[in-house]
Parts: sequence; C-alpha cells; structure tokens
Amino acid sequence: MAPVTTVPRTADVVVVGGGTIGAWAAWFLRRSGLDEVVLLERETLGQGASSRAAGMVRAQGGTEAAVRLGMFSREFYAGQQDLLGIDSGFVAQGYFMPCFTDPEVEQARRRIEMQRALGLEVRWVGSDELDAMNPSMAPGQTLGSSYAPGDGYIDPPRNVLAYTAAVLGAGVRVCERTAFTGLLVEGGRVSGVRTSAGEVATPRVVLTGGPGLAAVGRAAGVRIPAGGARHQVVVTEAHPDFAPERLPMVFDLASGIYWRPCEGGVLWGMSNPEEAPGEATEFDTRYFELMRRRMAALLPTTGKVGLRKTWAATIDFTPDHLPILGPAIGPDGPIEGAFVAAAGGHGMMWGPGVSQAVADLTVSGTTDVLDVSDLGLDRFDEHGRSRLEPDPIALPFPEVTQR
Ligand SMILES: Cc1cc2nc3c(=O)[nH]c(=O)nc-3n(C[C@H](O)[C@H](O)[C@H](O)COP(=O)(O)OP(=O)(O)OC[C@H]3O[C@@H](n4cnc5c(N)ncnc54)[C@H](O)[C@@H]3O)c2cc1C
Repeated sequence: MAPVTTVPRTADVVVVGGGTIGAWAAWFLRRSGLDEVVLLERETLGQGASSRAAGMVRAQGGTEAAVRLGMFSREFYAGQQDLLGIDSGFVAQGYFMPCFTDPEVEQARRRIEMQRALGLEVRWVGSDELDAMNPSMAPGQTLGSSYAPGDGYIDPPRNVLAYTAAVLGAGVRVCERTAFTGLLVEGGRVSGVRTSAGEVATPRVVLTGGPGLAAVGRAAGVRIPAGGARHQVVVTEAHPDFAPERLPMVFDLASGIYWRPCEGGVLWGMSNPEEAPGEATEFDTRYFELMRRRMAALLPTTGKVGLRKTWAATIDFTPDHLPILGPAIGPDGPIEGAFVAAAGGHGMMWGPGVSQAVADLTVSGTTDVLDVSDLGLDRFDEHGRSRLEPDPIALPFPEVTQR
C-alpha cells in the first residue's frame, strides 16, 4: 500500500502539481521568504509531462514573452549548480532554425531583430556556413538559418531529480499521492484548499497541472483553456555522425521535427498537427514512419541506424501556444490570492521563468521576469479562443482544447 502523506492544516501558500512548473514555483516561493510552502502532487513528483520531455531549451522564441522566458530559464539552468549544488544537465549545444522558403527567411530575419533587441545572442547563418557547422546534415537544402549558440538542452529526468532535491532541501512540505479537489473562497479571496487528505487553510494558491490543468481548474471552479495532445520522441542507436561536436540542435519548424544529441545517438521529436487533442500515450507508428522519411532527408544517417528508445506522452498546450500567467478567474471574477501557471508545452525551455513569474505574482502581484499583462485567463473567450496571435515558433499544437 502506498504511504500516506501528512498534510498540514494551514499553509502560507499551497502549490498544486509536482511537475517542473509547480515544483520550481514552490522553491521560488520558499526562497521569497514564505515559511509554510505546501506542494500537492496527486501521484509522485514528475509523473506528468516533466519526466517525459525531450529537454529542448530555446530562447529563440517568436514573441517577446517567449524570448524573455527562454533567456531567464537558460540562465537559471546555467547557474543551478552554484545555487543548489545540483543541476538539470543543461548543455549549451547551439540551436539552428533553418529556412526553406523565401517567406521563412524574411520571418527569421525579423525575428532575429526582435530577439537581438531583447539581448539574445542570435544571428543569421548563410546556407554554406550552416552546412559547414552541421556536417551530419544533408548539404544544400536550406536558404540559411537563425542560430543561437546559447540555446541547448536539459535532461528532463535529472531536472525532476534537481527540483526534488531543491524543494526538500528548502523545507517545502511535499505531499505526494495527495490530490487537490477544490478551492475554498470567502468574499472573493482564497481561504484554503480541499485535498484528498483533508482541508488546508491558506491565503495563497498556485494552480498548475500540465496536460491536466483544465481538470485542476474545474475542481477549483476556474475555466482554464489548456489541453493535452500526443507527442512522440525517439532516440537512435549511437553512430559517429551523431557525436555532439557534429550535431548542433535543429528545429524544422514546417514539419515540427527537432533534434539534439543523446547518448551517442540522436533524439528527435514530432507532433502530428492533424491529431485531435486529448490524452494519448500510445506510440503512433504510422505517423512516425511518415516523419522518419523527412528526418532521413535532413539527417541521412537516421535512415540507416536502428532505434534505442521510443515513447509517446501527453504534452500540454494552450490554444495560442503562449504561457498562462495570471489570477484564477471564477464565476464572480478574479479570485484574490489564487494564480494559474502553464507553460503551454514549453516547460523545459520556459519552466523556471514561468515558475519565478507566478511566485512573484503570488507574493507581490508583479514580476520582473516578463510583462504578464496580456498572459492571463482573461485573454480567452468562453470558447477558449485567445485574442492574441499564436506564438509562430511552436510545435504544430492544436488550437482547440476539445476533441
Ligand atoms: C514527449 C514530450 C516532449 C516534450 N519536450 C519538450 C521540450 O523539448 N522542451 C520543452 O520546453 N517542453 C517539452 N515538453 C513539454 C514539457 O514537458 C511541459 O511543458 C512541462 O513538463 C509542463 O510542466 P507542468 O509542471 O506544467 O506539468 P506536468 O509535468 O504534467 O506536471 C503537472 C503535475 O500536476 C499533477 N496534478 C494534476 N492534477 C492534480 C491534482 N488534482 N492534484 C494534485 N496534483 C495534480 C500531475 O500528476 C503532474 O505531476 C514535452 C512534453 C512531452 C510530453
């Protein structure tokens, strides 16, 4: 029988969800000086999307928010060892986003300008230079690429290990196998939470949940248009062509394929834009075979080697592919003291930034990480449609949350 966790009866803040967003938020909240920080996880830490991710960390975003969150998170990962004595395995591998058409070149050049104005080290690389820097990629295919040398990847299971050590070391009360089941609200203010192990009185709550965030919202009486969809990742056998010095990271935006080095082989991932949203964890071999051809055209050695690992898991998304950061909104309006945080499928690249921002909002109502004024739940209509343009640099996620 699973051990029973003791849940305290009062807390300074309760964080729902022990994925990368909730756990790092709990750590930032503790660091901000709150004494009793409670982290509720209905299963065990990391059992959602966070342990199953590919680990791509990119500050080359398509919006100012994405760039700022990516830069914050990269810096956090790079400084983690000094801060905590344990890191998430961040490697600044360098990341290309190649262009194949003239309109893509035009967009990339505009994006680079925006990103550089925000302080990101990123540049345009011509097709010959790209080929020289990517000796394992088939040459002569691109019109050039944007390139950020500081983008890289983390090791997602190690990130779970790192945040577990961090929250326990900081004195966060971690309550595993304890589900959040409802929000207690008095006079428009949070007064506590209901859990599977009883009630906790608290003036502050942070709601996270990754692909399960909409259900967390329903339990709280808050409509959150966030969904989940199948996402697939494979790791090939080792091959000298995949030596890290020959294999910078690449995102082929048009096909939604990305790759990075992994244990002597290449890790690559894909999302099917045609697929209806919903929880899905079976490996879709048919779609993989389709994408494998595109992958072999880009990185020919992948067509000649076998696979060491394959997996599919439910990835979180938001309809506009942007994060959700703002107050929880109930039937009577914003609930004082309650906040929602979602990384919209970018929890490795944006996670620490989203977590710091929601911790700041919870403690002081503002944050220096990024401008969140447009990123709250009030940007969605009753059908979950956002009034913002979607982030153009994202996986081909669905733009609706229901099948
Ligand atoms: C296959 C795959 C590859 C990915 N690759 C990348 C990548 O390369 N780069 C990138 O940036 N992102 C990637 N992602 C996305 C990234 O993993 C997520 O954005 C991130 O993990 C979300 O973190 P989270 O904490 O919001 O959600 P989760 O990690 O899912 O955590 C939410 C937690 O909340 C818990 N929970 C739910 N309901 C309740 C409740 N009622 N009470 C208590 N607890 C509850 C769940 O059990 C879960 O542990 C990938 C995702 C997948 C699936």
